[in-house]
Amino acid sequence: MNKLTVRDIDVRGKRVFLRADLNVPLDDGRITDDTRVRASLPTIRYLLERGAAVILASHLGRPKGKVNDALRLKPVADRLSQLLGRNVRMTGDALGPGVQVAIGKLRPGDLLLLENLRFHAEEEANDPGFAKALADMAEIYVDDAFGSAHRAHASTEGITHFLPSAAGLLLEQEVTALSNLLAKPPKPFHTIIGGAKVSGKLEVLEVLLARCQAVLVGGGMANTFLAAKGHAMGKSLVEPDQLVNAERIMSEARRKRVRLMLPTDLVIAAQIHPRSQRQVVPLNGVPKDWIVVDIGPQTVEAYTTHLAKARTIFWNGPMGIFEIAPFAEGTNAIANYVASRTAAGVITVVGGGDSVSAVDKLGLTKKMSHVSTGGGASLEFVEGKKLPGVEALPDR
Ligand code: ADP
Ligand code: MG
Repeated sequence: MNKLTVRDIDVRGKRVFLRADLNVPLDDGRITDDTRVRASLPTIRYLLERGAAVILASHLGRPKGKVNDALRLKPVADRLSQLLGRNVRMTGDALGPGVQVAIGKLRPGDLLLLENLRFHAEEEANDPGFAKALADMAEIYVDDAFGSAHRAHASTEGITHFLPSAAGLLLEQEVTALSNLLAKPPKPFHTIIGGAKVSGKLEVLEVLLARCQAVLVGGGMANTFLAAKGHAMGKSLVEPDQLVNAERIMSEARRKRVRLMLPTDLVIAAQIHPRSQRQVVPLNGVPKDWIVVDIGPQTVEAYTTHLAKARTIFWNGPMGIFEIAPFAEGTNAIANYVASRTAAGVITVVGGGDSVSAVDKLGLTKKMSHVSTGGGASLEFVEGKKLPGVEALPDR
């Protein structure tokens, strides 16, 4: 990465405004996946160990510019306290007199967490006055929020206009891994793409067709491709307005000689419910009241056999409705297989919120070359879009 990083600057004795992405999923106030908190630790520790006073900030959820008690960062402060083995203090607001007082008391090695930035509408509006107010708290800005880098907000973009800025270690690691994936993937480079819809992933599909030797399609997205080929999909998720695009992608793949693989068998269920009746059927075996919920075992076999040739594998999007255990077999089999290839020297990269959570649930995160915390940001990066949060940082 050609951006300035925390390793290039002297932070000792300085007040550092550290923007992290601590936007974790919550269920009734409890963190259900703390990956993003853990991924933020290296930069926090790095700064504290070097005698910086760290003002840590993040958004959480979508409070849309209003205080929302369910979206306070308290659970994150508690989790951080556990992980760091010290009491992480937090402010009642991201801004204001109380924050000024707390910041005035900071000493080298101290850590203070600000309340949810998005309680202020100015954050998402990238309001220059708000960005300046955030900047006034510190002497240096460090951006480690890769998951928020696709949005030009006050704390990711605006603030860089007012402070010397640098990338954090996580942001650096993400940009490096994803740039390498695009710039110099050892070939063959195969992609597995799934998830709910074709519509959200047209751009990434186009880019992948230009770079990969094979694209293996699963999940709800595969239904639309199969429907475009004339198969009846019953009550499954199909996007009728995307049939044309699915056809275009298929003919583009033929023209570019990219192997586009579709499922050859399917798991169907009578209802989207863990105890629903379930069955494996061939492509023409979906009854009109049934729903496709996963790829079938023959498809898993065909995909893993083909993936055995790859030297680079990128995976985005689950193969089925993996949130429901009986429909997660295809996703889990692919996850296990991809993870097993890392030890064989294959570059294995996973990106996308749900695919990453599927990998994490299986405890396979450490067995992949890179698992992106970026969600939407990692997809936009792979699509070749410039991320404002990254662009705003100065070059080395
Ligand atoms: P990612 O976050 O990894 O990019 P997406 O958000 O695109 O993935 O898609 C994830 C969602 O796709 C999951 O909620 C999953 O239940 C859903 N999904 C996968 N397969 C199907 C299917 N056959 N029918 C309906 N939804 C599906
Ligand atoms: Mg998702």
